[in-house]
Amino acid sequence: MTDCIFCKIVNGDIPSSTIYEDDVVKAFLDLSQTTPGHTLVIPKKHVADIFAYDDELASAVFARIPKIARAIKASNPHIIGMNIVNNNGEIAEQTVFHSHFHLIPRYDNNDDFSIHFGDHSDQYNANELNQMAANIKKHLEE
Ligand code: 5GP
Ligand code: ZN
Repeated sequence: MTDCIFCKIVNGDIPSSTIYEDDVVKAFLDLSQTTPGHTLVIPKKHVADIFAYDDELASAVFARIPKIARAIKASNPHIIGMNIVNNNGEIAEQTVFHSHFHLIPRYDNNDDFSIHFGDHSDQYNANELNQMAANIKKHLEE
């Protein structure tokens, strides 16, 4: 895609601090450096978001994430955890529409990353959860 900033990074038209690349993925430091070592892993093929992956691309991309995560962790003894975040759609705060996975090393409770999972477990009984699951399940593709 000619006007995609991450395709330009893949093609070398825009420089990036690359830590890993092969025929399928490129991993490079996110300019924002939410925490030190914040890295993006992207498929070299342009896909907009998680909904556009086929099984083969998903397998190949996900297979590469653990070793990149381990390398980031090994690079700094102060890294004690990592959030892996994948935003899909504007509502989910996706700003670059070439799919990517954020690898965000975690240092302590005061580093500059936070995530909030609301807890609404008191609003659903088992029957309602089962109905919701069944509704999603019927849309699974073979
Ligand atoms: P999103 O908000 O779409 O999940 O994340 C997009 C990320 O891309 C942001 O964290 C932003 O800092 C990063 N980003 C945007 N443009 C560039 C760029 O030109 N180079 C690098 N390395 N990161 C970028
Ligand atoms: Zn692209």
